[in-house]
Amino acid sequence: MALDRLFTYEVPVELLGKVRVGQLLRVPFHGRIARGFALTLSDEPPTFATKPVMSIEDESPFFSPALLQLVKWIASYTASPIEVVLKTAVPASVLKPSARPKELLFVEPTGKSAELTKHQAELLADIVRVGGGWMQQLLKEFKTSPSTIRALAQKGCVSIAPRVSRRDPLAGRSVVPTQPLRLNDMQARALDTIFSGSGENAASPRPVLLHGVTGSGKTEIYLQAIGRLLERGKGAIVLVPEIALTPQTVRRFAARFGDKVAVLHSALSDGERYDEWHRIRTGEARVVVGPRSAIFAPVANLGLIVVDEEHDPSYKQDETPRYHARDVAVVRARLEGARVVLGSATPSLESWLNAKEGKYALASVPARVAGRSLPDVHLVNMQEELERAGHVPIYSSLLLDAVKSRLDRGEQTILFLNRRGYSRVLDCPECGWVAECPDCSVPYTYHQADRCLRCHVCGGWAHLPSDCPICHAKDLSYSGVGTQRAEAALHACFPRARILRMDADSTSRKFSHDDILSAFRAGKADVLLGTQMIAKGLDFPNVTLVGVLNADMSLNRPDPRASERTYQLLAQVSGRAGRAEKPGEVYIQTFQPDAAAIAAAAKGDYATFAAGELVDRHDAYFPPYCRLSTLLFRSKADALARDWADLYARSLGEWAKKVNDAANAAVFRVSEAAEAPLSKADGWFRYHVVLRTPTAKAAVDAVKWLRSARPAPEALRVSFDVDALNLM
Ligand code: ADP
Ligand code: ZN
Ligand code: ZN
Repeated sequence: MALDRLFTYEVPVELLGKVRVGQLLRVPFHGRIARGFALTLSDEPPTFATKPVMSIEDESPFFSPALLQLVKWIASYTASPIEVVLKTAVPASVLKPSARPKELLFVEPTGKSAELTKHQAELLADIVRVGGGWMQQLLKEFKTSPSTIRALAQKGCVSIAPRVSRRDPLAGRSVVPTQPLRLNDMQARALDTIFSGSGENAASPRPVLLHGVTGSGKTEIYLQAIGRLLERGKGAIVLVPEIALTPQTVRRFAARFGDKVAVLHSALSDGERYDEWHRIRTGEARVVVGPRSAIFAPVANLGLIVVDEEHDPSYKQDETPRYHARDVAVVRARLEGARVVLGSATPSLESWLNAKEGKYALASVPARVAGRSLPDVHLVNMQEELERAGHVPIYSSLLLDAVKSRLDRGEQTILFLNRRGYSRVLDCPECGWVAECPDCSVPYTYHQADRCLRCHVCGGWAHLPSDCPICHAKDLSYSGVGTQRAEAALHACFPRARILRMDADSTSRKFSHDDILSAFRAGKADVLLGTQMIAKGLDFPNVTLVGVLNADMSLNRPDPRASERTYQLLAQVSGRAGRAEKPGEVYIQTFQPDAAAIAAAAKGDYATFAAGELVDRHDAYFPPYCRLSTLLFRSKADALARDWADLYARSLGEWAKKVNDAANAAVFRVSEAAEAPLSKADGWFRYHVVLRTPTAKAAVDAVKWLRSARPAPEALRVSFDVDALNLM
């Protein structure tokens, strides 16, 4: 339970001058010992009684003054308790009282000679030759016993002492060092913009939006910008979407900067995370690569923050504090006088508008490196396929022909299936019944592997029914296409093709994501078939064909950004084709070839798409022309959630009326209380209210007022999501 309160303590005489802002302290708290961060120091004694700080847990502060300021900004901008933000900013594994560096025994020759047996003398010679080493390794390497090494220590020839041993997340993975490439003119100009266009001497340089098509060499630009800043003694943070944070990506940075790179991602062990974090804190690592939470990395003398694929929705945290790492990056850069580069082939409209309005500098790289062309994109009208075949085929004949020619030529194909809502659903053709999870308002998905029905929201499952529970018809049907079925259908067409499938079901093991990609890269398969997971950042030279099985699903979602998401998805997926010398081809199967997002994606014309979409957003008063936030009401009791959503919506409506009257314009808009698109999850009923406001603060102020004026009962969960991306 968050307290959302700050407490005041006295610095006792013996700690005077030692307590610093950002340190972790031990303090008395309600009869026990608690740990807390020092947030501010004051010379003014308070008017109330205080207890003294007991001790300093760690001399060096966990938060620099700038990071603390950032934390405070997030707390107020997301309306979250500051302690929750503090906890988000430091990994739990670092704060655990038991967390400490791993120490191993290290054996080092002393240079002293002594009377030795032949066996001892040989061993000593070996140890001297390799310059000493970890006890465990020496034992293995020289097939000796601990007692023999200890005998050498007793005679003073070697010393044995514990030494910190780094738990290296990249250990055992070979990294071949790389040198900076010769930039082409467009890349060089973009690099210039990062350094000069953004105001070389300004106290806080303007953020740079790097708009570069897929394969235009954005990563090389990041690498060279970082290289330049390292020479000036500065550090850098590189954010990448979690899903793109494969060892492949990390290797590109490690290959250029070696041990100066620290990796932070969710698959690290506690020990690895502890060590990486401390390598950052001590300055040993100067370049941090990680997902959104890496924005809090304690890099001193920060020179640059890169947000790669800045449009990616995974930068938004979907629990308290609901921050967006791209926005936090911009604010942190400003606080620390650092540069910030937001890179994407398909920028968010928020960033695009900022660039249009001159708040960001724009650097464009409109072509691929080395004269490689963007792929040819073909739209396949599935309406025509339906008329021709009498049913909707999973694969159009055009796409199948294209796959076949790749198989013949020994080139590779990626097939993409946006599975959401399009998995295999069990229904009754007689009465229309659909097998649904009783706890969530979503259909079950049929899983062939274990022959059962699974809920993708709560993870629950059920046996396959033998007949319809409503009308008892026997012939239930499976509609929709899931990755498993798409795989089976492709196999039926090309029995000899080697197909790899990648989705949430095939990648549950820790490294299998990377294993699958490595196998594909090594040419061990002809076709990679998968969900969103394969849409991002992957670079396979031998892929010359990309097929999108159904482009419409993401277009039809109840989300004001559905068009934008569809464009992004199609452009990203298409970008996987033809990245090396061989040109690429893309087939997009759709029922809506004329939809703006799909037509523009086929031409690779982001600017035209963005211009049209901005007009629509402006007319409809949607972001980036307003700030959109949601209030979500969840309860096990349907009526309770609905009634409170209603009550909040009405109160906010009254608040909005006052704001709008004063502004003489409808700038503050409140929706009616409504069932959320995901109306039930895990047995919780869900209602929401959507706010559109001129500033984020306008929404935060209204909600803060309402929360204190109308505190919700225990049985109700109300969550507030400022600048919401997910309206489900
Ligand atoms: P992006 O991040 O924009 O998708 P990458 O940085 O991955 O593009 O570059 C695509 C490929 O082109 C990579 O294999 C990269 O090594 C190569 N590349 C990048 N810049 C150059 C350059 N200036 N000269 C030659 N090859 C380059
Ligand atoms: Zn039925
Ligand atoms: Zn469920």
